[in-house]
Amino acid sequence: MNVDEHAEALASDLGVDKEEVKADLQNLIEYSVPVDEAKQSLRRKYGDESSGSSEPSSADIADVTTDMGNVTVTAKVLTVGKRSIRYQGNEQAIFEGELADESGKISYTAWTDFDLSPGEVITVGNAGVREWEGNPELNLGESTNVAREETDLDVSYDVGGDSSLADVRPGDRGVSLELTVLEVEDKVIDGRDGETEIKSGVVADETARLPFTDWEARAELTEGATVRADNIYVREFRGVPSINFSEFTTVEPISRDVDVNDSATKLSVREAVETGGAFDVEVTGNIVAVRDGSGLIQRCPECGRVVQKGQCRSHGQVDGEDDLRVKAIVDDGTGTVTAILDDELTAEVYGGGLEQAREQARDAMDQEVVADTIREKIVGHEYRVRGNLSVDDYGANLEASEFAETDDDPAVRAKALLSEVDA
Ligand SMILES: [Zn+2]
Repeated sequence: MNVDEHAEALASDLGVDKEEVKADLQNLIEYSVPVDEAKQSLRRKYGDESSGSSEPSSADIADVTTDMGNVTVTAKVLTVGKRSIRYQGNEQAIFEGELADESGKISYTAWTDFDLSPGEVITVGNAGVREWEGNPELNLGESTNVAREETDLDVSYDVGGDSSLADVRPGDRGVSLELTVLEVEDKVIDGRDGETEIKSGVVADETARLPFTDWEARAELTEGATVRADNIYVREFRGVPSINFSEFTTVEPISRDVDVNDSATKLSVREAVETGGAFDVEVTGNIVAVRDGSGLIQRCPECGRVVQKGQCRSHGQVDGEDDLRVKAIVDDGTGTVTAILDDELTAEVYGGGLEQAREQARDAMDQEVVADTIREKIVGHEYRVRGNLSVDDYGANLEASEFAETDDDPAVRAKALLSEVDA
């Protein structure tokens, strides 16, 4: 190659003006800089970060780090999930999933449609590397090229997204599941395009139950329906994984019986807290205290937060709306968790609804009497609490769906035993 050809190749590689590159190159060569070194120095000057070569270096997936600007890998496509996002004001379909080679696997996001399908082996040239949830992820964009390979790759991961509810994790994409719908509720939300109908509820398989959202409000998802769903993505919702049906999810009814396990997972408080968040668990322990902010409370009409002395943390002075709630500390000897009871469960333990609570507060000229009444009833007693657990820096909260006193009073137990003997 002569200088002109070198300059032309370099300029097109770097996307800069050829005459400018040629002038620089000629200058360096006149100072006896070898051509290759001159080209490298020009790459640095014009901002190509891949030092030395115009091709990003090939790497094993296990060696890909976020320090690499871009990289080339040869890998097998494990999963392909399709999802729509709003990017710079436009609706755009993106493709997400995982790639694997002999050394490991990595997740990817493709911003254009490379028509990927699970099981094929591809070489992804010039993929960007970014950090996603603490791990490197490949970004396949317009400057990425994808070539199909003839040879197979022996990877130690399952191809395709077949999974089970016990195995899914927030962030999983392109997942396939066979599910039974246990509970479903129609909802109208204020979406980004105005009011949108969605469905939410609970799905189950042999391994677990999890909450779901169907952003397309599909007719097929009725209570008791058993379906195979492809192209699901998993998000975290209130500390637990949640199954998301997007517009690209396909749902097929199946006739197979999914043997659903309908009981909550029974755990010690410590085990429950160690999960970091769990759907539908059950703990049993003593109520050691009823926390402040229980009983008759007021909520901000704007955001639903509990207001104190008429002040919302976000909305300032507001006209709070009355509500009933209990925050009870449950201790089973292995740890503590705060059980949160909604208005209905609170009314059950209090022995009356909102009207009764208001009346008691009026008579006493102090709304704390409602919490005191609840304290007297439950503190020191043992309760079985079922619900969804979330854990954060401030502690563990169990949003109760059931809250029932155990019959663990020795006298009651003895009596029950006697009646069994008599019978
Ligand atoms: Zn508010």
